[in-house]
Amino acid sequence: MQHQGIRKLLLLGAGHVHVHVLAHLADHHPADLDVTVLTPYPHQTYSGMTPGFVAGRYSEDEGRIPLEPLLRAAGARWVQGRCDGIDAATQTVRLAPVQGAPQAPTSLHYDLLSIDTGAVLDRARLEAEMPGAAEHALPIRPIEAFTALWPQVMALAQRQAVSLAVVGAGAGGIELVFAAEQALRLHGLPGARFTLVTGGPEVAANYSPGVQRRVLRQLKRRGITVLREACTGIGDGEVHLGNGARLACDVPLLAIGTHAPPWLQGSGLALSDSGHVQVNACQQSTSHANVFAAGDVASRVDQPHPRSGVYAVRAGPALAHNLLAAHGGQALRPHHPPRNTLNLLSCGTGHAIASYGPLHAEGAWAWWWKDRIDRAFVTRYRRP
Ligand SMILES: Cc1cc2nc3c(=O)[nH]c(=O)nc-3n(C[C@H](O)[C@H](O)[C@H](O)COP(=O)(O)OP(=O)(O)OC[C@H]3O[C@@H](n4cnc5c(N)ncnc54)[C@H](O)[C@@H]3O)c2cc1C
Repeated sequence: MQHQGIRKLLLLGAGHVHVHVLAHLADHHPADLDVTVLTPYPHQTYSGMTPGFVAGRYSEDEGRIPLEPLLRAAGARWVQGRCDGIDAATQTVRLAPVQGAPQAPTSLHYDLLSIDTGAVLDRARLEAEMPGAAEHALPIRPIEAFTALWPQVMALAQRQAVSLAVVGAGAGGIELVFAAEQALRLHGLPGARFTLVTGGPEVAANYSPGVQRRVLRQLKRRGITVLREACTGIGDGEVHLGNGARLACDVPLLAIGTHAPPWLQGSGLALSDSGHVQVNACQQSTSHANVFAAGDVASRVDQPHPRSGVYAVRAGPALAHNLLAAHGGQALRPHHPPRNTLNLLSCGTGHAIASYGPLHAEGAWAWWWKDRIDRAFVTRYRRP
C-alpha cells in the first residue's frame, strides 16, 4: 500500500515498543519525516523492575529509561501530555494536560499514528466493580504514581505492624506481594501480615499447574496468606470479600487485570470486544491504514496473544520497520509473535520461578537471569 505525502508521524506513549522505534529512528530518520512523541513523563518506567524497586533492590532511576536523550538521538519532538481522544477521520489527537508541565497544544494532527500507551486501570469501571477502591486502594498503575507513593507505605510500616493485601494474583500481583513482604520484613516493624486475594481463581491462573504449585510453596514459605475470594469493595482499613467477610487491611494494593483506555471509544478506529485497537499481522489498524498500534493497547485479530511486556518488546522491530515502510510507500512486514515466551517470576530478591511452555524450574539462578535481562533492556535504550 502506498502512503504518499505522509510527513507527520505521531507516537502516542513511550512504552516498551516505542522506545525501540525511537532507537531505530536514531539510525534511520528520513529527512521528510517529522516525529512527535506525546507522553506524560520524561522517562519510561520499566515495569519488570518495579517489584525489585519495592523490594529495595533497585533505585527508581535504575528501572527507568530517560526519554530526553533518546528523543534527541531520534530527532523527535516531545510534547508532554496525555492523549485524551482520537478522531481517526480528521487525523487528530486530543490532549489532556499533565499537572505542572509546560502548556501543550490542545490537539495534534498526524499523517501517520502509532499507539503504544499500554493498558490502564479505568477508574470508572474499577469503582463500579469494587466500590471504594479509587479512594482507599493503591493501584499498581500508573506505575509512576505507585512508585511515588510506595515510600509512604514503607514509612507506615516503620511506625506500626501493618496488614498488607495485594488484590490480584497474576504475575504482577504475585511479584508485588513477594517484594512487599521482603521489604517490610527487612525494614518494617515485626508482626506485619501479608495476604494475596486472588479474585476467585487459583494463584497464577494463567500458568501451568506446576508453576502454580511452585508459587504456592513460596508463598507458604514466606507466611503469605492466600484468599481465593473476589474483592467486592474496599473501605477504610478493610477489604470486602465475596463471601461477605471483611479483611482488616492497612495497605490494599491493586494489581488486578487492566482495561483498554476509555478514550479509544468514539475514535472511529476498529476496536476489539474488550475495547483494544484491532490490528492485523503488521500491527496496522484493521480500519485505518495510517494507524498502527502495539503492546497492551492493541489486539491482534489474526493471532491473539497475552498482554505482557515480553510480547510488547518483541513487536518493536516490526513496528519500527512498518512505520518507516508506511511513510516510504514500501511493503509492510508481518510480525510473528512467539508461541511461548520465557517467564521469570521473581519471589523477592534472590529467587525466581522460570517457565517456558510446559517447562518450569526455580532457583537463585532464575532470579539472576531475570536481573540480567531487565538491566540489559533498560541499558539498551539509555543514551548518553
Ligand atoms: C508490577 C508489574 C510487573 C510486571 N512485570 C512484567 C514482567 O516481568 N514481564 C512481562 O512481560 N510483563 C510484565 N508486566 C506487564 C507489563 O508491564 C506490560 O505488559 C507492559 O508494560 C506493556 O507494555 P506497553 O508498551 O504496552 O505499555 P507501557 O509499558 O505501559 O507503556 C505505556 C506508555 O504510554 C504512556 N501513556 C500512558 N497513557 C498515555 C496517554 N493517555 N497518552 C500518552 N501516553 C500515555 C506511559 O507513560 C508509557 O510511556 C508487569 C506489570 C506490572 C504491573
